Amino acid sequence: MNKESLYKNIRAQGGRVTKIRRELVRILTNLGCLISQADILIYLKEKNMFPNRSTVYRELRFLSENGIVIKNTIAGVNYYETPHDHHHHLVCLGCNSINKVEMPSHLGYQEKRIAKENKFYIRNHSLEFYGYCFSCQPRFITI
Ligand SMILES: [Zn+2]
Ligand SMILES: [Zn+2]
Ligand SMILES: [Zn+2]
Repeated sequence: MNKESLYKNIRAQGGRVTKIRRELVRILTNLGCLISQADILIYLKEKNMFPNRSTVYRELRFLSENGIVIKNTIAGVNYYETPHDHHHHLVCLGCNSINKVEMPSHLGYQEKRIAKENKFYIRNHSLEFYGYCFSCQPRFITI
């Protein structure tokens, strides 16, 4: 269902829904959260697809530059997600784990105001919380 609307967006940007694009959209839709290019190469391999790194890089750039997928850089690593499943992340500074956190319709009003005041067209936002996960807290938090 979500995949179809992403394919539609690719066509709307004048792009063709090639095998690799179809597969990238499928991977990102199915996995949901923070998929790196390295992860994508592994999943493609499982599908017996062996594109070279620069092809995958170029295709991900096409998809993210056209707003079809969202690129989010956390701690220097580029991750990719679909725009349908809007959420944020808890990033642990102790073990580098990243977890998804939901904040339903939290910034709608602020986004509208910011867009208007700055005459800025907002396509999306990212918001990460940095700190320590439960198992890292004993090592890092001393209260
Ligand atoms: Zn995520
Ligand atoms: Zn948000
Ligand atoms: Zn941790």
